[in-house]
Amino acid sequence: MKKISLFLFTLFILVLTSQKAFAASPGGATKCSGTVIDLGIEKKLLPFGELMRPGQCGTKPNKIVVHTTEGITSADGLWDYFADSPEGRYASTQFTVGKDGKALQMLETLSDKAEIGWAVAGYNGNSVSIEVGHTGDYNSKAEAPAMQYQSLIELIRKLMGAYNIPVGDIEYTTSNNSDTQSDGTIKLESTGVFGHYQLSPNSRQDPGSGFLRDVREDLKALGPASGSGTLTSGSGSASSTSCVITKVGDPKDPPPPLPALCTSNTSSGSGGLPAGPCQVAPPVPANVKQAIIDKWGITLNLPDDQIALAWGEFYQIDCTGFLQDIKGTTIGSWGNAYAQQFSCPGAGDANIQFSNQWSGRFMQTILVHEMTHVWQNCSTNGEQNKLDNDAAFEAEGGLTMYSRTGCSFNVDLSNEDHADTIALYLNPDQGELTCGGGAPNPFSTGYYPKHKASAEKGVSKKL
Ligand SMILES: [Zn+2]
Repeated sequence: MKKISLFLFTLFILVLTSQKAFAASPGGATKCSGTVIDLGIEKKLLPFGELMRPGQCGTKPNKIVVHTTEGITSADGLWDYFADSPEGRYASTQFTVGKDGKALQMLETLSDKAEIGWAVAGYNGNSVSIEVGHTGDYNSKAEAPAMQYQSLIELIRKLMGAYNIPVGDIEYTTSNNSDTQSDGTIKLESTGVFGHYQLSPNSRQDPGSGFLRDVREDLKALGPASGSGTLTSGSGSASSTSCVITKVGDPKDPPPPLPALCTSNTSSGSGGLPAGPCQVAPPVPANVKQAIIDKWGITLNLPDDQIALAWGEFYQIDCTGFLQDIKGTTIGSWGNAYAQQFSCPGAGDANIQFSNQWSGRFMQTILVHEMTHVWQNCSTNGEQNKLDNDAAFEAEGGLTMYSRTGCSFNVDLSNEDHADTIALYLNPDQGELTCGGGAPNPFSTGYYPKHKASAEKGVSKKL
């Protein structure tokens, strides 16, 4: 049961400040580093806005996702729709094609990545989306204006060439095949041209399976797409947003509910802490380090301000039994901008090394993330919950961009997914912690029911 690993479990980079609101005028140059590619499409970049253009950079796209809109049929009209509030609408797309055939690029594309928008839940970090202006779904290409359809095909072929994406052969319905996961969704690593309905099978039908079939058949008939040599290149800005966040959203999604805060001692658990007493910490005692040792058996060799924050957090999550499971844990401090779990309670001077650079709610939430690594690796309850979370991870993918990609770190993604699951479930007002941060708490979106069920099962009551 006691499993002591010498491998790195966790690395965190500093959180970058999220974008502030901009007026709804064309946005500025990308914040992603690299070579901007020019696809020959009219470019009118969206303003930066947390719910529209968060200014983050994905990994190399392996999917081209075709959508249809519900009512906005022109490219400029869709731009206006996305940009009509300072922060946006929880929706955006890299490209759109209007009924008149006008194509518009709204988010930047680079040679090895695309700027992230909010288009297709769970896949925003490694896909490029095209919104085809319409009033619902198309049953076939015959229903679309010829100019629009031709423009769409040309755009897809340019993207296939730029990112070396094949047409793909995944079934038009979500029947069993090697790319389909148990819940009917397509694997993150699967590549090709997709309809939104294939990636969000429980909530989407667009652009229509018949239409997608026509698109694919025509693409196949045209043969391999030309390579990236058809592209001209310019230079992007030099700022180094090396990591990514993924947003979920779509023009047809209602805005996600705001995460509930657990600030009283009568939390029912809906959106906040799990059912059970949610305790407000008493005033920080004079010797808070010793008080924490006395109450929970956890030694924090951290700066005083961080120990005081831990006091508040520990009371907040005390109803879960989580802390009892990791009794004996010792946490040390270092100057690195990341934290790491090294060992289990009882082994060595510090089971976790924690950055002395962090503060506030972020520090409290990341502390739970790190302690979850102790829990998952060193306790029976935590090991069992890790298995439950693994099933959720398999079915839904990682719930944060960190747990989908590792950012630029070589980490075990399922371990990180479990740690983020518990940390963000127990701190529902906090968004994603790493990969640039800034994305809302994944549980606030409603897209991770299996992760949520696993977290509830693991930390909903005294264990
Ligand atoms: Zn971690």
